[in-house]
Amino acid sequence: MAALGTPSGTIDILKKYNFSFQKRYGQNFLVDTHILDKIVEASSITEKDCVLEIGPGIGTMTQYLARNAREVIAVEIDKMLIPILEDTLSEYHNVTIINEDILKLDIGQIVEERNGGKPIKVVANLPYYITTPIIMGLLENHVPAESITIMVQKEVADRMQTGPGTKDYGALSLAVQYYAKPEVITQVSPSCFMPKPKVGSTVIKLTVHEKPPVKVEDERHMFALIRASFNQRRKTLVNGLSNAPGLGLDKEKIVHALEAMGLKPTVRGETLTLDEFSILSNLLKK
Ligand code: SAM
Repeated sequence: MAALGTPSGTIDILKKYNFSFQKRYGQNFLVDTHILDKIVEASSITEKDCVLEIGPGIGTMTQYLARNAREVIAVEIDKMLIPILEDTLSEYHNVTIINEDILKLDIGQIVEERNGGKPIKVVANLPYYITTPIIMGLLENHVPAESITIMVQKEVADRMQTGPGTKDYGALSLAVQYYAKPEVITQVSPSCFMPKPKVGSTVIKLTVHEKPPVKVEDERHMFALIRASFNQRRKTLVNGLSNAPGLGLDKEKIVHALEAMGLKPTVRGETLTLDEFSILSNLLKK
């Protein structure tokens, strides 16, 4: 049988199990060995590492990871893929397959059990319909992770890296940059997948900061401010924040804080840097 990371190897295994792709699970399997090599190289996995793979599919990348890591935990939602994974990964004794929805799993507990709570590495060709909740879940819940090397839709990678004053700048940019350093590894064309997605893809590596780049007294409060600012993008920050339910901020207090920062009361949230959001949050918490 041909290797899995090729179109013919993938077709062979899909036929053997009479597998049909589930669109609702974002199933686009990688069929390009150059891209697989690049992902594994970028993730700098060693035989000491415990790796979490989200959505192993038919196990193509899992094989690469298992050859390089001490242990791989692969979480796959689609039960139809489990017998296939048991077949394609039968030679690898360092892989645990978990048939679960990644969004429902307590990953912190798995890291505790499998890696003594020490940081793991996350590697994934993510299902695009839930990219943001997966990334935000890993970052905001402080899952111990050294790095997160992922294939995402190109425009999501653009949003992760950009700064103030661009249309792509938003809550995802600020969250990613607060918790990690993003670095684009490579662009990936739809022809590297089976079936081909309608969008371009990017492999991006997030190296998680040991300490965040800004000092903030209450992270949750800062991210609540950030969300409220971008939920009402067209409004001034003062209007956006004073209208936001749950924040309980009056206009006067916000204007006061902006003045103390040397910012005009007409400023929009989309022009503030991470540093400015952290200062604003600290001032409004007082
Ligand atoms: N890693 C494989 C590859 O690169 O060829 C498959 C990647 S495919 C883009 C995404 C995979 O994530 C699919 O196998 C899909 O079934 C799985 N998946 C989708 N939603 C999931 C969820 N909520 N939890 C775990 N796996 C999920």
